[in-house]
Order: sequence, then C-alpha cells, then structure tokens
Amino acid sequence: MALRVQSFEAGPIQTNAYLVADDETGEALVVDAPLEATRPVTEAAAAAGWRIDRIVITHTHWDHIADAAALVAASGAPLAAHPLAVEGLAAPGSLIEDLPFTIPPTRPDELLNDDDTVTVGRHALRVLHLPGHDPSHIALYAEDDRVFLGGDVLFPGGHGRVDLPGADQATMNRSLARLVGFPPDTVVYPGHGLPTTIGAEAWLQGLAE
Ligand SMILES: [Zn+2]
Repeated sequence: MALRVQSFEAGPIQTNAYLVADDETGEALVVDAPLEATRPVTEAAAAAGWRIDRIVITHTHWDHIADAAALVAASGAPLAAHPLAVEGLAAPGSLIEDLPFTIPPTRPDELLNDDDTVTVGRHALRVLHLPGHDPSHIALYAEDDRVFLGGDVLFPGGHGRVDLPGADQATMNRSLARLVGFPPDTVVYPGHGLPTTIGAEAWLQGLAE
C-alpha cells in the first residue's frame, strides 16, 4: 500500500503540482495549483481511477495558486491552506511584477495549522507550518512513507528565496532546522525542479539547533 506521488510541471516558471494517492483506496489529494495544471492533473487522476478529495496549497505565491479556482471547479474538492493564506488567495497576484494574466480569487474551505494531519486513504500526512519563504507556507510530511511535499522550502542544494516580501532568512533557518531529524531516505518533492532526499542535503545538518 504505497503512497503514490505523480508530479506535473506547469505554468510559466515550471512550478510542480503533485497528485498524491493511496492506490488501493483510490483516494487522492493535489498539492499546489500552477497555471494550466488542472487538465493534466485531473486527467491523470481519472485515468488511474483516483478521486481527488482535497487540494492543498503550500503558499500563496502566484505560481502555486493560479489554477486553484479551476482545480476546485474541475474536481469538486475542497481547498485547504494555512490561515495566513486567506489574504493571498483572496487577492492573488505577484508581489514583485505585473502578470500577463489574471488569477481568480479563491478562499480555503479548510484551514490547516502546524501539526494537523490530513489523510490520503490509509496514509497520514502531517502539516508543518514552515515560514521563511512565505508566511503562509506549509508542507506535508508522510513519515511512514518517507515522503515530504515541501513546496518552496527545500530544493536540491538550497532553500526557497528569502528576498521576497514576507520572506526572512532567520525564519527560514528555523523552519529548515525542523527537517534535520527526518530519516535520510525521506524523498523531498519540491515546488520546482526534481526531487531530492533529506540525506542528500547534508548542508541541512549545519542548521541543527
Ligand atoms: Zn514561492
């Protein structure tokens, strides 16, 4: 009974959406909603016979939420995000530039706080509030499955940008320090680019508190 993770790179700055499923029960959730991700994600779920039960937004940067309304409409699933994401979902857009398209406002149907648990079939995923890149940032950690859906917190060889409004290096370091004790074979699925593992990111150990 593996927890299946499929990735979908979409949108103008190659943002990853993830379709996460219990392939025995067919229950699934989607992590993030990049522009034009709706069709490939919902088609893949339908092809696999999976039902999308929840859409989790890691943080409200535009490239992660552009298709949130479309994905909700297509799947009928509730939208879940951190309480600090409410404002960004209601007034979506770039913090630093004008976008050549408009993002429809949305609001979360469900609020996720640090240490909450969401389930995908028989798999439990713990919610971690990890600000530093963005105040609203959450990640999902399935410890038993060694899966960490980290959004823009941890990338191969580094962490998410801290030069944006709402970002902060010291806060980021505190968030990253929480990952240090994770099992080394935990696979990290980032918001951009290819997966890595906690063990491969040896630099993280330097942040242990
Ligand atoms: Zn971001």
